[in-house]
Amino acid sequence: MKQITASIITIGDELLIGQTIDTNSAFIAQELNKIGVWVKRRVAVGDNESDIWQALDDEGKITDIIIITGGLGPTADDITKPLLCKYFGGKLILNHEVLAHVTYLFEKVYRRPGPLMEANKKQAEVPDVCTVLHNARGTAPGMMFHKDGKVFFSLPGVPHEMKGLILNEVLPVIQNQFKMPAILHRTAFTVGAGETMLAEMLKEFEPALPASIKLAYLPSYGMVKLRLTTIAVTNEAGEKEIEPYFEKLQELVMEYLVTNKDEGLENVVADILKQKAKTMCTAESCTGGYIAHRITSVPGSSAYFLGSIISYANSVKENLLHVSPHTLSIKGAVSRETVTEMVAGALYKLKTDYALAVSGIMGPGGGSEEKPVGTVWIAAGNKEKTETTRLNLRFDRNRNIEMTATYALNFLRKFILNNP
Ligand code: AMP
Ligand code: MG
Repeated sequence: MKQITASIITIGDELLIGQTIDTNSAFIAQELNKIGVWVKRRVAVGDNESDIWQALDDEGKITDIIIITGGLGPTADDITKPLLCKYFGGKLILNHEVLAHVTYLFEKVYRRPGPLMEANKKQAEVPDVCTVLHNARGTAPGMMFHKDGKVFFSLPGVPHEMKGLILNEVLPVIQNQFKMPAILHRTAFTVGAGETMLAEMLKEFEPALPASIKLAYLPSYGMVKLRLTTIAVTNEAGEKEIEPYFEKLQELVMEYLVTNKDEGLENVVADILKQKAKTMCTAESCTGGYIAHRITSVPGSSAYFLGSIISYANSVKENLLHVSPHTLSIKGAVSRETVTEMVAGALYKLKTDYALAVSGIMGPGGGSEEKPVGTVWIAAGNKEKTETTRLNLRFDRNRNIEMTATYALNFLRKFILNNP
């Protein structure tokens, strides 16, 4: 079966100077993958005519579908629309439906008084050689062009608008015009073993994989995702092919396996707590509420998460969590004893089944010989018992915080499973 391929061209100087992170490509690639389109290349170019032109030429040569985002704003720095008009050999004409939509947005939604500005009216001009794609979420319409058997989509750069256009306009057109194979991914998420250690565990498994199945290692803060990918004629055929290998993969890394879905630890903890109908809370010093934030980013978290005490200062550890002044002065805020008392205080104050506490030195300052930057104590407990562990991280502040949260959530996960 012929593979259908795509290129994504993102436009904007802000992407090249690193001011804006290109999240559009990631979203588009994920959505294309879901419907079986293989993204072959992603290119970022500035708001520069010859660079955009070159990118259109290059990508048009190698893929079936070219998706462009950015450069459609009403200001002079956005040059994509006139350029596309020239590239596809058309002229700009006023589109009355788009004009009605722009007028409606300014009058009824943005409630801007007075007549439309010229620049906004211009947003309703489109090349006469394109098919207009309705942008329900904004003023710049999407556009579709055909050239040499290839299809080009041009979308606004604003992520929220781009997403609406991809989901409501672009994907349906692609599914209508092309017959795609199924692309299947299976992801096992491990914590506690490094990439090389996992590779060692998989040293016989990996070379024995059929050529149609690819294994990828995706290390990130304190964890490694192992992804198997295959392309098949149908979803069912792909599943049949990939499942036995995925089962085997999970068996081999069982000791470090956290979940067999592509999801975060906060989702894993959520599922366990919901299934057991138990509640939890956090007492956070060095993460400043970040663990609670990760937990509450899961929809429905109110079913099991009751709250958090962010005890950044010792006075708050004392006053709200009843950590004893003696412990704080003798053992210090970053100690086994302090996090143990933080768990006890949080369980007492917030009345949950489980509590998770962290205290550490995230850097760059604040370290000492005995407790260098990256020293973290974690405690997880319930009414009966509290367990602790110490981390010795060695990264920058952001990464230390991220890893503390990941390790702490995993520590809580194990504690709950071992102490139901
Ligand atoms: P534009 O369509 O070029 O006027 O883009 C409008 C805004 O969307 C820009 O100011 C950026 O903040 C944002 N944006 C543009 N391209 C991207 C991208 N690839 N990823 C994320 N945000 C983007
Ligand atoms: Mg721009």
